Amino acid sequence: GAEFEMGVEEEAGKKMGVFDKIINKEIPVNEVYEDDKVLAFRDISPQAPTHILLIPKIKDGLTGLSKAEERHCQILGHLLYTAKVVAKQEGLDEGFRTVINDGPNGCQYVDHIHVHLLGGRQMNWPPG
Ligand code: ADP
Repeated sequence: GAEFEMGVEEEAGKKMGVFDKIINKEIPVNEVYEDDKVLAFRDISPQAPTHILLIPKIKDGLTGLSKAEERHCQILGHLLYTAKVVAKQEGLDEGFRTVINDGPNGCQYVDHIHVHLLGGRQMNWPPG
């Protein structure tokens, strides 16, 4: 369906972003979890002892949370659920934080939706 076509389009090299290249294994990352829908890997510039990014393998127009459509509900839920699974895998038993930055005010720099999973230290509130 539409998801498959989007995948092909991305593989054909149209507008390949850094996270597309990570999914295609063109840029090596430190992977911590993978299934058919989601890839999780350590952030290259960690802001906490544990800092992992979770991304959908098929972007399907989901460049950011502000672009979400109803058809994305399943992948959005799966991303958050996987954050919990990975938090457990990483031993973040004292708690953790998930963040989705969106747009310039949200400090989003990569146009491919991603969930930050941060842990291993006391977080502060409000965030910067
Ligand atoms: P921000 O830099 O404000 O966190 P984003 O929310 O768009 O902006 O997050 C992009 C994240 O992707 C950053 O934390 C950055 O360190 C990370 N990143 C960029 N390139 C890579 C890479 N090749 N491998 C792992 N993480 C990366």
